Amino acid sequence: MKTIYYKTESEIQKIRESSLIVSKALAEVGKAIKPGVTTAELDKIAESFILSQGARPAFKGYKGFPATLCVSVNAQVVHGIPGGYTLKEGDVVSVDCGVVKDNFYGDSAYTFGVGKISEDTAKLLRVTKESLYKGIEEAVEGNRIGDVSAAIEEHAEAHSYGVVRELVGHGIGRNLHEAPDVPNYGRKGNGVKLQRGLVIAIEPMINMGKRDIKQEADGWTVTTKDGKPSAHFEHTVAIGKGKAEILTTFDIIEKTEAAQF
Ligand code: MG
Ligand code: MG
Repeated sequence: MKTIYYKTESEIQKIRESSLIVSKALAEVGKAIKPGVTTAELDKIAESFILSQGARPAFKGYKGFPATLCVSVNAQVVHGIPGGYTLKEGDVVSVDCGVVKDNFYGDSAYTFGVGKISEDTAKLLRVTKESLYKGIEEAVEGNRIGDVSAAIEEHAEAHSYGVVRELVGHGIGRNLHEAPDVPNYGRKGNGVKLQRGLVIAIEPMINMGKRDIKQEADGWTVTTKDGKPSAHFEHTVAIGKGKAEILTTFDIIEKTEAAQF
């Protein structure tokens, strides 16, 4: 089993700082999301902002990934590469961002709507975000990873959505991805016991249709097999006593028009 690194308070403070930069970067991206904007332009906005904060984009160069953001539109689930695609009214666009500063990482994702989106899609976004918070409620000392996973799965499946299984949340700290894995499905009472010092990224990827996914030929982009939309929300979270501490924040992101769901 891979080693789990428990963080000191001063290390959690560093993750808190990186997480705040990620949140602000996503808010900058959110402000720019509208019909006619390319996903490459969003990437540029995030990169300049992160560099202006004395931090570095965590994804660029990670296993060869070429960009600052993962931008995944509509049926794309995660790991979309920003490029020439022009956003259009009704699209939903998941933006995933990671930052490293002072050797510690922060990681967060938000799914935005472009202009007016359908009621069905808005509901998918809302339920996916709710699933994330249901998981976070369980991220407390004495619980287990399976409690987080089961809470996410139950909420999404109660709405008959597909919960992606192949991609999972993760520990985070001096590395972007650390043990333990944080699946978005599972059984209560199973898995690693949660204790203070553990910092995890919880990130449900929820499909409007079936849970099955496929890998695109670019080697990165993951899409739904049935072509239906998918949503993705992620917070970096420190395990707490009685209550988790969410180190990233959606508060500033949700001041933007693209995030009114
Ligand atoms: Mg992420
Ligand atoms: Mg992550």
